[in-house]
Amino acid sequence: MARPLIADVDLDALRHNYALARELAGGSRALAVIKADAYGHGAVACAGALEALPAGRRPPAFAVACLEEAEALREGGIVTPIVLLEGIFEAQELARVEALGLWMAVHSDWQVEALLAYRPARPIPVWLKVDSGMHRLGFPPDQVAAVWERLSAAPAHATGLLLMSHFATADARDSAYFDRQLACMQALAHRLGASLCLANSPATLAWPQAHGSWVRPGVMLYGSDPLEQPSEASRRLEPVMTLRSEIIAVRELAVGEPVGYAGRWRASRPSRIAVVACGYGDGYDRHAADGTPVLVAGRRTAIAGKVSMDMLTVDVTDIPEAGIGSEVVLWGRSRHGAVLSVDEVARHCDTISYTLLTGILPRVPRHYSQRT
Ligand SMILES: *Cc1c(COP(=O)(O)O)cnc(C)c1O
Repeated sequence: MARPLIADVDLDALRHNYALARELAGGSRALAVIKADAYGHGAVACAGALEALPAGRRPPAFAVACLEEAEALREGGIVTPIVLLEGIFEAQELARVEALGLWMAVHSDWQVEALLAYRPARPIPVWLKVDSGMHRLGFPPDQVAAVWERLSAAPAHATGLLLMSHFATADARDSAYFDRQLACMQALAHRLGASLCLANSPATLAWPQAHGSWVRPGVMLYGSDPLEQPSEASRRLEPVMTLRSEIIAVRELAVGEPVGYAGRWRASRPSRIAVVACGYGDGYDRHAADGTPVLVAGRRTAIAGKVSMDMLTVDVTDIPEAGIGSEVVLWGRSRHGAVLSVDEVARHCDTISYTLLTGILPRVPRHYSQRT
């Protein structure tokens, strides 16, 4: 029998979460962010599932981080427009941007110069990125009008101009910094008569006043709740990836016996320890503390001992029915019905769902399911 670890990807759940993003977006258009191989879920499969939705319910665009990611989607047969969130990394990429029908952000002067020096057969859709307070990419607010005017005056090069920016604190309840960024962008939009694209997942979920003409949810599409405090809407998200394995061995340990490297966990009572085929060589986080939740045969228990490269160990003392071959869910939905959220696992690993999901390595086969 093959090694039992798989990442089950529920494409119906992905569509459900996208439909929720669209519903929340109201009159705004909702693109789907599928960078980093759709946050580890498989970009071509996820884009294909969303593109197959009926017209009017499918994403009008996808977004990725770079040209290579867009090329992989086009090779996979995806025809929907794709936005390059960081634009080009060198001027010679413009020919591919044009040939593949991509849209692109411009965040730096050199990108503007490259675009104006290039003569596309048809103008390229361009989103002008503003640094409204994230202090990562984008033009400072006081330079935006000049760049906007240059691009507006070059209709043979750039079309579909709008202003985009990224929030630093949309996941937090305290809105002071968020409000400052939003006010900055609203002032620019008003002055230039521009439309806006601002909202990541937390802003799509929690800040309708920031929806603008486009929202750009990412992680929520995969069922992770990015909000500090769950909302009524975020509770409707469904997990897309189930990281599923099985017990491959069981140990009976006397009081005081240690488990795994450095003996981090020790039995405080006579214990049954299950060995699970999943480790950091699969992308499971080695920082998972003792107590990190796991579902065994649909019941909650916890990691006991350090995660190894190919295996991890869980305490099944209180799950007497657990044995070799029992289902183990590291996150997602058990066949027995229970759900373990990747967000909860992330908290025990001192990280966020994004790193866990994008961290699942190619060694783990992805299995796709959909009813429709
Ligand atoms: C990744 C990314 C997003 C999506 O963010 P989530 O928090 O996953 O919703 C949106 N906009 C930009 C510019 C990004 O880089």
